[in-house]
Amino acid sequence: MVVCNSCGLKSESRQNSFFVQIDVPKSKAKLSDLMERSRPEDTDAHCKKCERECQKTIRRNITYAADNILVHMKRFQKTSYKTSKNDAEVVPTPVYLHINGKRIRYEVCSVVCHAGSLRSGHYTFYSLDQGRWTCFNDAEVTQMESAPTNGYILLLKRDTEYTGCLEEGEGSAPIKYT
Ligand SMILES: [Zn+2]
Repeated sequence: MVVCNSCGLKSESRQNSFFVQIDVPKSKAKLSDLMERSRPEDTDAHCKKCERECQKTIRRNITYAADNILVHMKRFQKTSYKTSKNDAEVVPTPVYLHINGKRIRYEVCSVVCHAGSLRSGHYTFYSLDQGRWTCFNDAEVTQMESAPTNGYILLLKRDTEYTGCLEEGEGSAPIKYT
């Protein structure tokens, strides 16, 4: 749902693939906690009623349990005179979402990392294959002990074997998206 902050005009657009943007805090955090705190986003876009560029608020809702969710970690900040990057660690924990009254478990299965600045940089790709993390860095392929914590783009895959019961130590409450 997109709401114009000047006139209040609401508009909805539906997407079949789920794309979530997350603010990265300055200190180490868990992915599950950040997805719970996921806030509405502000953007500038044309408003049909105001007939001009307005500030609008976007609220993203997940309305069905898709197989995959793409998560964009907002690591770049732009101020009027410069851009900066936040490399704070985010531990790619499993995420539990409440969708249509059901508790759905998602696991991080691939991570894209970015090294460098907004002007120049290098991408590496990490993927979970049969319980092991593998790093793809140009022609180099290496086995990893664990998933990287400096992910820029994360692919979450639905755990189809998850029954919806709370397991010991899962801690945080599930996220209500609908
Ligand atoms: Zn408007």
